[in-house]
Amino acid sequence: MEVAGSNPAPPTIFMFMVFVKGELPYFTFTNLSQFSFLKHAIVTREGGYSHGPYASLDLSYTVGDLAENVNKNLEKVKSFFKAKKLVWTHQAHGKRVLVITNKKLTSYIGFDALITNQPNIALLVKLADCQGILLCDPKKKVIAAIHCGWRGSVANVIGETIKVMQKEFKSDPKDIWAGVSPSFGPCCAEFRDYKTLLPSAFWQYKIKNNHFDWWAISCRQLQETGIPKHQIELAQICTVCDKRFFSYRRDGKRTGRFGAVITLKGEEGDSGDS
Ligand SMILES: [Zn+2]
Repeated sequence: MEVAGSNPAPPTIFMFMVFVKGELPYFTFTNLSQFSFLKHAIVTREGGYSHGPYASLDLSYTVGDLAENVNKNLEKVKSFFKAKKLVWTHQAHGKRVLVITNKKLTSYIGFDALITNQPNIALLVKLADCQGILLCDPKKKVIAAIHCGWRGSVANVIGETIKVMQKEFKSDPKDIWAGVSPSFGPCCAEFRDYKTLLPSAFWQYKIKNNHFDWWAISCRQLQETGIPKHQIELAQICTVCDKRFFSYRRDGKRTGRFGAVITLKGEEGDSGDS
């Protein structure tokens, strides 16, 4: 194991992800790792079956990769999590939240956040510069995975997800822990047209040369829901700079998607088919 987190941006919160090497390299959040009833990971672009610009652990069917290779990549992630189902959504850069209550489907359309309290279901969000935000309420044993790009930040998909956790599972934000995945950092997140694209409330997060600190914006949005700051961990790893990740900004349309995944472990002998 080695500790990652060499980004030059001033850290908002002083915790670093842990990088685990192996056949399927992955990062974990220090704060979420304390909960033995869940398993989570940020899988990188390494350890899969795809070739060329999609090499090698591309998790998306919609970016031009061969479906047979994506199938194998998704299967590898699913078996790593020992999950009965690996569930994802065709993300829409919006704020629609889906609660997974049955286990028949594995993919859905038009949602950017997934929540469940069911064991053995691995929630996956697919990323190439956008943030994957993993949440856990250890009191209610509820987890969530959010896909949040800049449009998701403007729509506040974070706030929307936590509202649904409160409504459907009686979660108290004070109990929720959060991890914000590697994503495009202040070093690379240039928004020349920010005055037309972004609400003025975001302008205070412009650090220099029209670059924005989206990590700080997510940290703020998480805290606005009531999540204590010390329960939030920011990866602070820029996917444009760090070639272990797919990056839309760096590589353009012909690139893959890596993933942020979280699951509640089942009891021993739980078939997960209830
Ligand atoms: Zn960067």
